[in-house]
Amino acid sequence: MTARIIDGKKLAETIKQNLAERINALKEKNIIPGLTVILVGDDPASQVYVRNKANTFTKLGLNSSVEQYPASLSEEALCNRIRELNNDPSVHGILVQLPLPANLDANKVIETISPEKDVDGFHISNAGALMTGRPLFIPCTPYGVMKMLESENVELRGAEAVVIGASNIVGKPMALLLQKAGATVTICNSKTKDLAAHTRRADVLVVATGRPEMITGDMIKPGAIVIDVGINRGSDGKLKGDVEFSSAKEVAGAITPVPGGVGPMTIVMLLVNTIEAAERKL
Ligand code: NDP
Repeated sequence: MTARIIDGKKLAETIKQNLAERINALKEKNIIPGLTVILVGDDPASQVYVRNKANTFTKLGLNSSVEQYPASLSEEALCNRIRELNNDPSVHGILVQLPLPANLDANKVIETISPEKDVDGFHISNAGALMTGRPLFIPCTPYGVMKMLESENVELRGAEAVVIGASNIVGKPMALLLQKAGATVTICNSKTKDLAAHTRRADVLVVATGRPEMITGDMIKPGAIVIDVGINRGSDGKLKGDVEFSSAKEVAGAITPVPGGVGPMTIVMLLVNTIEAAERKL
């Protein structure tokens, strides 16, 4: 039996349609949710992500601006610009596209963003608040994954969840959200011994490593829900996940494709966070 495909693109569209009412309510009060994205340097993948984010906002009639700076931009200049945006009432969300060039301290830059406008949820106070269960914003990728699991009616209470990858932007917040939902969570990283022993126990397996197709069908528990966060561009130019889709779909109960899985959900959750930021201003 082959796995059900969890269609992130379709779910993202449904969520977008359901946001129309909230957007209209804000517009009636003369508030147009606005996002400013800051892009430093010329990383080609970042440019694509930023363009996709901005397009999604403008298509819905929301404000979105992209500020692009050369890699030579100083940390001070960047932080000063962020402080200006913090004080601009027409800007509800500020997003600094990562990774930043090596000469900039990403932690320092992100912590300059006002936590009330930190729609990525990466500010240390939002990360800490997520840990204690009261975040202003949930990081968009793990938030999107939770919405996917919800849409599939996955029972998380008591489930064995395994998250592979422990980054601050995906793996760690993902694990916290799954734990909060009642799952028993294991977080694996590059030092994990016998990774397959962990993955084969997982009722819910979330993979976010940036290692193309590292999880194969034989590492998956039959019937498991497999969420592939990875986005890797192969030498043929095609996008590949961290899961080998062809073998995984023969074993899993449900699986997200790449592209068309977690990616579109990440963008739509950014929209949700920005609308929420605007609503809080009322
Ligand atoms: P990072 O590089 O920051 O983190 C990767 C994590 O994976 C680390 O914790 C690392 O372990 C772990 N890891 C690496 N290799 C292995 C291995 N062989 N076995 C087990 N664990 C391993 O990546 P991100 O979290 O930022 O991103 C992960 C992937 O998700 C990337 O492909 C990225 O492009 C994608 N992504 C997709 C998004 C979307 O919208 N779909 C959004 C964000 C990211 P250690 O801690 O030991 O180094």
